[in-house]
Amino acid sequence: MKVLQVSAEIFPLLKTGGLADIAGALPAALTAVGCDVRLLLPGFAPILQDLQDASLLAELTAPWGERVRLLQGSLASLATQAYVIDAPALYQRPGSPYEDAQRQPYADNYRRFALLGWVAAQLAQALDKSWQPQVVHSHDWHAALAPAYLHYARARQAQRVGSVYTVHNLAYQGVFARQHFAELGLPEAAFAMHGLEFHGQLSFMKAGLYYADRITTVSPTYAREIQTPEQGCGLDGLLRSRANMLSGILNAVDEAVWSPATDKLIPFAFDALKPAGKAHCKAALQKEMGLAVQPRAPLFGVVSRLTEQKGLHLVLSAIDDLIARGGQLVVLGSGEAWLEAALMAHAEKSPQAVAVNLGYDESLAHRIFAATDVTLVPSRFEPCGLTQMYGLKYGNLPLVRRVGGLADTVVDCTLENLAEHSANGFVFDDFSTDAFGRALRRAFALYARPREWDAVAQRAMQTDFGWNASALNYLDLYRQVAA
Ligand code: ADP
Repeated sequence: MKVLQVSAEIFPLLKTGGLADIAGALPAALTAVGCDVRLLLPGFAPILQDLQDASLLAELTAPWGERVRLLQGSLASLATQAYVIDAPALYQRPGSPYEDAQRQPYADNYRRFALLGWVAAQLAQALDKSWQPQVVHSHDWHAALAPAYLHYARARQAQRVGSVYTVHNLAYQGVFARQHFAELGLPEAAFAMHGLEFHGQLSFMKAGLYYADRITTVSPTYAREIQTPEQGCGLDGLLRSRANMLSGILNAVDEAVWSPATDKLIPFAFDALKPAGKAHCKAALQKEMGLAVQPRAPLFGVVSRLTEQKGLHLVLSAIDDLIARGGQLVVLGSGEAWLEAALMAHAEKSPQAVAVNLGYDESLAHRIFAATDVTLVPSRFEPCGLTQMYGLKYGNLPLVRRVGGLADTVVDCTLENLAEHSANGFVFDDFSTDAFGRALRRAFALYARPREWDAVAQRAMQTDFGWNASALNYLDLYRQVAA
């Protein structure tokens, strides 16, 4: 099965969130189940730098007249064949791939990412004579025009190429002013309610949802939630109408990157059978972050984008209680200024109990998962969530809200779940300080019983979050849509 994976980010080259982790893990996971995977990526500097044995496949003229080059080579970090769009005027900009230094989306984002979908469709039309995909699998709004271009190219195509579109977060939609539609090279008919028009504007996300042969999202629960008005971001009607084409395939953990037994980024190795290293990791992090070095202080961790989605105001509201109960908190994240400031204020007030690192630090993220006892993920909504799974792998019991992929991966430590050995964390329902506070108290209560806690943590570390099952689910979809 020849599959072209199309995404804007890819770990370890360029990452702003979970999308990159998944894009980075899929090539190996799909190869392991027999797929022939190639990647299509925008030519951001770290991606171009990683491209080995690059050759020029084609010079192309984008629908709006811009000349771009398509390179072909092998990505050294991923050991995967890749096509990279070399368009320095579009992609060679410092900082975030999507926003300028003032955190404003680039005004030409519609061109920067339409190009990604458009080139995918060129490759589907045998631009590379030696390799033509049977399926184009595109991810999130940045790559969401691929199914639309593919749909309109089908009339000209000898061989039908299937399209699969994965939503990693429905809240980020890529909506642009109508006036830009004419530049995209799509037929007028596409700008319609039955197309990519969204309340008079043009929506990349809607293009993906409307034109793809199959839609997936990253957990079964989120697949249901996005069909409701509460979580559908205005697209629930379309999603309900395509419910037969929509499925939830749970994200998995790349165990080559996230395993405490082999992780080079943490100071002491450990695993379920030899857990002693975790206590050393905890002491090392407490020291590093200026926290009191107390082995029996339950250490709570947050590794997150600091946005409204993540529900971190609930954490803020509980910090005093958490400290009063003898706990500690470490936060690594960046995002909204008010949240950053509020967290910093707590760290300044209680430096022995609260440590905050504002920024993005892959290696510190690993040290935090290795050190902490509880990973906090109180999200308002969460398509899948990766940090609760990383937490489990590193012997944390996650404390999460029962939404999206969090609901699919964390089982509350109720008495009956403990008795049945299914419990692995703390789950609350209401998006309220009360409900969060009660879950926090449950965490403290279990922590006060070390033997029970350790037994749950040991099982947590042994959870199978490997890619095999999810990769087979994707392969099944590819078979359904390929000619
Ligand atoms: P989302 O994609 O909504 O940001 P996920 O939980 O799916 O949330 O994925 C987040 C990914 O980004 C995880 O790999 C997490 O470890 C990482 N991450 C988030 N914030 C930071 C940060 N400040 N520093 C390092 N890694 C981070």
